[in-house]
Amino acid sequence: PYNGPSADEVFQKRKKFLGPSLFHFYQKPLNIVEGKMQYLFDETGRRYLDAFAGIVTVSCGHCHPDILNAINEQSKLLQHATTIYLHHAIGDFAEALAAKMPGNLKVVYFVNSGSEANELAMMMARLYTGSLEMISLRNAYHGGSSNTIGLTALNTWKYPLPQGEIHHVVNPDPYRGVFGSDGSMYAKDVQDHIDYGTSGNVAGFIAETIQGVGGAVELAPGYLKSVYDIVRKAGGVCIADEVQTGFGRTGSHYWGFQTQDVVPDIVTMAKGIGNGLPLGAVVTTPEIASVLATKIQFNTFGGNPVCSAGGLAVLNVIDKERRQTHCAEVGSHLIQRLKDLQKRHDIIGDVRGRGLMVGIELVTDRKDKTPAKAETAVLFEQLRELGILVGKGGLHGNVFRIKPPMCFTKDDAAIVAKLYKKEEAGRKKVMEEEEDEDDTFEDAVCSKTPARVNTPLSVITEAFENLADLLKPDISTDEDGLSLDAFCSA
Ligand code: PMP
Repeated sequence: PYNGPSADEVFQKRKKFLGPSLFHFYQKPLNIVEGKMQYLFDETGRRYLDAFAGIVTVSCGHCHPDILNAINEQSKLLQHATTIYLHHAIGDFAEALAAKMPGNLKVVYFVNSGSEANELAMMMARLYTGSLEMISLRNAYHGGSSNTIGLTALNTWKYPLPQGEIHHVVNPDPYRGVFGSDGSMYAKDVQDHIDYGTSGNVAGFIAETIQGVGGAVELAPGYLKSVYDIVRKAGGVCIADEVQTGFGRTGSHYWGFQTQDVVPDIVTMAKGIGNGLPLGAVVTTPEIASVLATKIQFNTFGGNPVCSAGGLAVLNVIDKERRQTHCAEVGSHLIQRLKDLQKRHDIIGDVRGRGLMVGIELVTDRKDKTPAKAETAVLFEQLRELGILVGKGGLHGNVFRIKPPMCFTKDDAAIVAKLYKKEEAGRKKVMEEEEDEDDTFEDAVCSKTPARVNTPLSVITEAFENLADLLKPDISTDEDGLSLDAFCSA
């Protein structure tokens, strides 16, 4: 049993000693004390089905045994020494990662986060091309560090500081974008930006293939292929930000960029690569990588033995447990079910995504697509009450993001058995109330899970059915007195 401080004590200490820019989900913040595969537990032992994976980070499952084992074994031997000495783990990991890459993408730099990866990618693009001008998409998120904040194009995250030589082109968003699903028209906008807004030469173009923070927006078909040609003709390099879309999550492909049939010049990654370890990477060609050889590019923790051992274990688990195929199967099932739900509920304006990277956009009217901000905030709270943790995103905070850990295999059965013991003690009442033996999303995700466990889909349905009751006027502020707007866009 948990003997630590109460949720309120944890929250008060965090408010007192941590920076005021931190935000939290839920009016009454959730205190998570343990995680096992796709489940999280609060301090009372209540179990939640985690459909957000710590912001798409816990790729293989919380505390996955193989990954924990690799981290523990390496920690016992050596935690850290830096790349000033030799150690086999960094090379082994880099080799395995390079093997996952197409073409000549064979040189790896390890860093500690997605922002660092994109900083480094931008630095290489600028040094390699001799141009400073970068292009990124509106509605993109590429980081919060001083340079990547410029690439990011969502005002919630942008402090008024110099953003440097960055052009934000029209977002090829099939649902809200001005050109609908016509990838070639959006590509033309990139050409226009280069012609009118730059010297004619650019350093590079960066994009996610499915925008994560922006609300699971999949780029219009054919967009990247045309844009990569345009950018390369203008002397630039093409960067794929795979921080959220990589490692099989899209189901149809291992990397998001493959869904648009392109090969980038630089690929950046983080989050899922470490299943929770602070780890990021940049993979590029030997030619582009060589621009950094004129000086020293050093990163104290980049590729440290523990992170490298853990990262290699992640790659192995994804292969061994056939996560990509699994994401394709489970994801298409989920998306289909959500589309069925959309037919019954006008508030669901759009259901989109690929594999286990899914978005549900809520609107108050389908014609004008007015963001259903308040309704999303209320449903979000309701889902938590029902034991389901999803994410929220988009400029208006009106998109649910469903991106669970990609887990569940026979090998997990032993862990699951343990979970049930724990649940029996802590959640009997909730379980009884939530009995639901329908053929559901979770049945597909977790074939070993007894049917009595509630499912994201039935919970979402339930929440939607009760929407009218849920919409009470007292949600205008959260506990910290944040406005509804701030709350919705966090
Ligand atoms: N790129 C994308 C697509 C992201 O979603 C994020 C984080 N949300 C980042 C970069 C930045 O990663 P980090 O928070 O690890 O710096």
